[in-house]
Parts: sequence; structure tokens; C-alpha cells
Amino acid sequence: MRMLDRAVALTIPAVPKPIVGYFSKRYIAGPAVGDAFRVARALESEGACATFDILGENIRSLDEARENTGAYVELIRGIAAEGFASINVSVKLTALGLLLDRPECLENARRIAGAARDAGGFLRVDMEDSPCTDATLEVYRALRPAFGKHVGVVVQSRLRRTIEDVEALTGEPANFRLCKGIYLEPRPIAYTDPEIIRRNFTLLLERMLERGAYVGIATHDEILVWDALRLVRRFGLSRDRYEFQMLLGVEDELRRILLSAGHRVRVYVPFGEQWYAYSVRRLRENPQIAGYALQAIFKRG
Ligand SMILES: Cc1cc2nc3c(=O)[nH]c(=O)nc-3n(C[C@H](O)[C@H](O)[C@H](O)COP(=O)(O)OP(=O)(O)OC[C@H]3O[C@@H](n4cnc5c(N)ncnc54)[C@H](O)[C@@H]3O)c2cc1C
Repeated sequence: MRMLDRAVALTIPAVPKPIVGYFSKRYIAGPAVGDAFRVARALESEGACATFDILGENIRSLDEARENTGAYVELIRGIAAEGFASINVSVKLTALGLLLDRPECLENARRIAGAARDAGGFLRVDMEDSPCTDATLEVYRALRPAFGKHVGVVVQSRLRRTIEDVEALTGEPANFRLCKGIYLEPRPIAYTDPEIIRRNFTLLLERMLERGAYVGIATHDEILVWDALRLVRRFGLSRDRYEFQMLLGVEDELRRILLSAGHRVRVYVPFGEQWYAYSVRRLRENPQIAGYALQAIFKRG
């Protein structure tokens, strides 16, 4: 961290809450579920749809994991009750106890997947850092037989292993979100050259589509969007075989361009009481404000 950054980092706890809120409000819907619904309704009115994420801190006990599970089940019921066209949530397995008790985490994930299935909705299992990759994919595999088209997982083009994971998972119908990956991983397991990460993204997308998977193409990188459109055309895919996904507050213009061309676009809508603790922690670590909110959403502390 540069000296100036370090100085800024030290002063962050003194930054008034409204200022932290000002910087995070572009990326985070707000503290309450009603804030997320309001944002999702606005997105729906422009033709986009949402996936909802409840922000959480690191959990220390299985009680917290159960609480988080209950909150997601409630959220799914709430989305259904509000009458949204798409009932879709994104969950980090560490919030359900992945690092505390794997069988219990799977049970928690089953509860949420069950609620999604009962509501005709969808549970997306987010991907976290590399120590979680195997366990996350195992949970996804374990959920698939019972919850089929109601569950999907995320894979990251940054990781060298992902091509093999995709091949192993596409033996049966699969549903992926493909992203670059927010966690900086060591070179032995991850590509570090941005151009290779990009090319791998396109390679993975091509392999997924060839093998009949549904793909959420999660990027704001217009070269990758262009590549995806090229593949969609080449495979002659109908609009129900893929969707584009973007983060709240990022590249609104590209979102509108894709919507007006008739593509399905889903926006990641994070919300929750933990927004402040999260934002401060991330700001302290990375005072270069531009990227901090994104990290707040995807990295656990
Ligand atoms: C819907 C969705 C879900 C995701 N889920 C996961 C997940 O489960 N696990 C995971 O590891 N990662 C996840 N990510 C994050 C992802 O891995 C990337 O880190 C992130 O999307 C940035 O990569 P990019 O492809 O947009 O390309 P980049 O090259 O990073 O960005 C392309 C352009 O988009 C704009 N941009 C990107 N980010 C920002 C920002 N924060 N603020 C302002 N402008 C920005 C800039 O103009 C930038 O030049 C997700 C991303 C999306 C969109």
C-alpha cells in the first residue's frame, strides 16, 4: 500500500457513516430488504431482473449460519410475495457454515434450495476464494439431483482448474455464472495476466455453450460481451439459453444497450444491515475507493 493510501486507511474509521454510505450507495441497495425490492422494481421496469444477495460479515458460529439460512428462506418468500417475475438469490456458502461444518452447510443450502424450488425460483451459489472451490463445487453437485434447474454455481476464468471443472460438471445439465473472479490467487493456481484471464473466459463460455449449459455471462468488460455475442450468434442460441449479469451501479449504459438489443440482463443487488461494517472494513483495506465496494460484496473479511 502506498504511503498516502496507508494514511487514508488509518483515518477511515473516522469517516462519518453518511460519507461511507455515499460511496457505497451506488453498489449496495441499502440496509433493508425493502431497499433491495425498490431497486429491483426499478430494474424490472427497464426490462432487467435481479439476483438478491444478503450482505454478511464473517460468521463465527453455526447459530449465525442458521440465522443466515432463515434470512434467505424469508427473502425468497418475500420476493415471491412481492410478485417479481424472477425469484433469484445469490448465496456465499461461508455464510452458511462452509468453513465450520460442511454437512451442516449442505443442510442449510438444501433449505434455501428447497425454498427456491417451492417458489419456482433459483439459488445461485457464489464462488469464493480458492480454499473454498472444491467444497463449493461439491455442495453444488450434491444439490443438483434434488433441485436440478433451481440451482447453479459460479466459476472463475482466473483459475487454471476451471476448464476441467466445467468439463466435469457438464456431463449433466448445468447452470453456471461465469466471471473473471474477484480474489487475487497465487500464480501456480491462477492466471495473473489479464489477457489470459479474458481469453480463458471466452474459452470457458464456448465450452459451456457447446455442452448445453445455461450461462450467466457476468462481466462488464465489453470485449468479453462482444465475444459472448459472437458465440451466441454462432451457436444460434435462443434468448432463454443465456443471460448477461452485471453488478448494481456498474456499467448501466452497457446494461441498457444489451436490454435494448433484446438480451436478458440480471443485476446483482446486494443489501443488508452489515453494509456499514463491510464498507468500512473494505475501505480500510483498499482506500482506492473505485474498487472497494465490489470487494465488499464478494470478499469475506
Ligand atoms: C453478477 C456478478 C456476479 C459475480 N459473482 C462473483 C462471484 O461469485 N465470485 C467472484 O469471485 N467474483 C464474482 N464477480 C466479480 C467478477 O469476478 C469480477 O471481479 C468483476 O465482475 C470485474 O470483472 P469484469 O469482467 O467486469 O472486468 P473488469 O476488467 O474488471 O471491468 C471491466 C470494466 O467494467 C467497469 N467496472 C468493473 N468493475 C467496476 C466497479 N466496481 N466500479 C466501477 N466500474 C467497474 C470498468 O469500466 C472496467 O473497465 C461477479 C461479477 C458479476 C458482474
